[in-house]
Amino acid sequence: MPNADTPALPFLPFARPDIGDAEVNAVAEAMRSGWVTTGPQTRTFEQAFTDYLGGGVDSLAVNSATAGLHLALEALGIGPGDEVIAPTLTFTATTEVVRYLGADPVLVDVDPVTLNMDPALVRAAITPRTKAIMPVHYGGLACDMDAILAIAKEHGLKVVEDAAHALPTTWKGTLVGQLASDVTVFSFYANKTITTGEGGMAVTRDPELAKRMRVMRLHGMNRDAFDRFTSKTPAWYYEVVAPGFKYNMTDVAAAMGVQQLARLPAFVERRQYLAQRYHAGLKHLPLVLPAEAPAGDVHAWHLYVIRLAPGARLSRDALVQGLSDRGIGTSVHYVPLHRHPYWRDRYALTPAMFPEADAAYQAMVSIPLFTAMADADQDRVIAALDQLLG
Ligand SMILES: *Cc1c(COP(=O)(O)O)cnc(C)c1O
Repeated sequence: MPNADTPALPFLPFARPDIGDAEVNAVAEAMRSGWVTTGPQTRTFEQAFTDYLGGGVDSLAVNSATAGLHLALEALGIGPGDEVIAPTLTFTATTEVVRYLGADPVLVDVDPVTLNMDPALVRAAITPRTKAIMPVHYGGLACDMDAILAIAKEHGLKVVEDAAHALPTTWKGTLVGQLASDVTVFSFYANKTITTGEGGMAVTRDPELAKRMRVMRLHGMNRDAFDRFTSKTPAWYYEVVAPGFKYNMTDVAAAMGVQQLARLPAFVERRQYLAQRYHAGLKHLPLVLPAEAPAGDVHAWHLYVIRLAPGARLSRDALVQGLSDRGIGTSVHYVPLHRHPYWRDRYALTPAMFPEADAAYQAMVSIPLFTAMADADQDRVIAALDQLLG
């Protein structure tokens, strides 16, 4: 508990979006424009996103990364009887979309250092039913994409990257979104490195996949409302070519996204700075600090996940409580999928099948890391950890 003589400090959340006047004004303008659903702001955001990645890809704005992942697997023809390999240490969205299509996720364990899916285990999990691999760049650190893409090529498998944490992340100097996978999906959920409230972006260099995802994003219609509103072909005419979904992004959200993307370079710099400060401030404690990107590569630092070292004097739960008592918010990324009733029961999964992810789960805490936190906020976190563990 805080000492009686310490004034209560405001609660420090584990994450908070960084939204300024530019976003507020852009959203107000979109609302006043008379065009609030998918339209000019969405087009601008998609083009800006493609430009940010360096061009040569199609960027499709969607109303969540989950929607983008679903569209990607659907466009790749994943269906009943197929298997898709994914890590157990992820959010359930990664694999729920596999079930939407009647296919089965096959979970694999992670590397104990990076907490990313272990390519050797991916290879071992391949069966005649395997159709795709879904790497998740955990916390913003790239998976070993050379190994994963080589395995995919060798076995004729598709690759859909869950890049919800990976804006911007590089692998051997190339931005995630520009690697040789089929589709890469980013998230703009409230706590991600940029936010549109809810939203996501599906990125592909394959025009056929882009075309299918574009149609399925909006009811399987071959023209969207903005196209019908602005083109010379009669506005009322469209054709439905498939039973599509309702996954389009609104212009209200996209207006926010355009402004957030413009601020991304400054956000990245702030996250790098805060991560380095945590490294320096915590290295003397009995903690396993998160792995850094290899020299020359970019870690997005969406999350800063510390793990209690063996022999630390507190349990994970006691550490979470101790930080909470000191007004510091935390989270755990993630309760691994193999521990959730749905996945555990459906596929008869046990912790012993995923020793690395399970051990990491029991020792891990995500501590506050967001661009709007002050250095003094971070000093509080470091001092609290020092008090609890030093
Ligand atoms: C946030 C997240 C998602 C889902 O993103 P939404 O935009 O909320 O749908 C998927 N996978 C991972 C790993 C995430 O962290």
